[in-house]
Amino acid sequence: MNLQIEGKWALVCAASKGLGRGCAEALVAEGVNVVVTARGQEALESTAAGLRALNPDVQVIAVAGDITTDAGREQALGAAPHIDILVNNAGGPPPGDFREWTRDDWIAALDANMLTAIELMRATVDGMAARGFGRIVNITSGAVKAPIDVLGLSNGARSGLTGFVAGLARQKRIAAHNVTINNLLPGLFDTDRLKQSTEAAATSQGRSFDAVLDAKRQAIPVARFGTAQEFGAMCAFLCSAHAGYFTGQNVLMDGGAYPGTF
Ligand code: NAP
Repeated sequence: MNLQIEGKWALVCAASKGLGRGCAEALVAEGVNVVVTARGQEALESTAAGLRALNPDVQVIAVAGDITTDAGREQALGAAPHIDILVNNAGGPPPGDFREWTRDDWIAALDANMLTAIELMRATVDGMAARGFGRIVNITSGAVKAPIDVLGLSNGARSGLTGFVAGLARQKRIAAHNVTINNLLPGLFDTDRLKQSTEAAATSQGRSFDAVLDAKRQAIPVARFGTAQEFGAMCAFLCSAHAGYFTGQNVLMDGGAYPGTF
């Protein structure tokens, strides 16, 4: 299927590794020009080189910076002539116990996993509507549907974003102009983030890394972790011309791990 987004411009945030990189790869493969961001310059430049090799016909612009800051967002937004596709992403908050979290911990989580996405949508959505095409995908988490005990910062901040997006996506001045906003909810994907959370769980439970990883894997009906490529393919479809009648939705990609009927 040709996704019919060739020549569009995308901003893919937090994309030097993992799910963000998977989304950037899938969009570049479809002929989309991309701005990719991450804090670490070296990994970002290497990813950008990989993206250029994947499709030499597109422009790939790497912007090193922290997307959760005003300066980082300004630089990222300024790098493209305009943004047709926005993939919101940032690192997830640390695990822990809410009894120990301070107001600053909460503000950092809200900044990264709620307010940054809202700021980037604020900066881009009206331009998309004026041009008659826009696709926004927010990478959130399966934790929005089924909370994860130790990830209370994520459960809270991402649920806030989800509630906000449910309203925003349905505004006539956005939805009636071929601009869609959806959330893509990863279950367990094989990325650095999974390794870090498994290490933390192994340490706190006094179990081996492999035992914890295997238990996680066995709890998934498809009996494996997802790949960034699979995640990217779903993201690219949500950004495609074909997905114009699909908005305000939460797409859970978790290998069947969520046990509910809906
Ligand atoms: P990952 O493999 O650790 O990759 C994270 C990427 O984001 C890296 O490129 C990182 O580069 C960049 N990044 C982090 N903080 C950033 C910031 N403030 N500004 C700009 N770039 C930033 O993580 P992932 O697995 O792809 O996860 C992506 C998101 O999905 C996270 O929010 C995570 O919590 C969520 N999630 C993941 C899973 C999973 O199973 N993997 C499940 C549920 C939810 P730098 O460090 O160099 O900035």
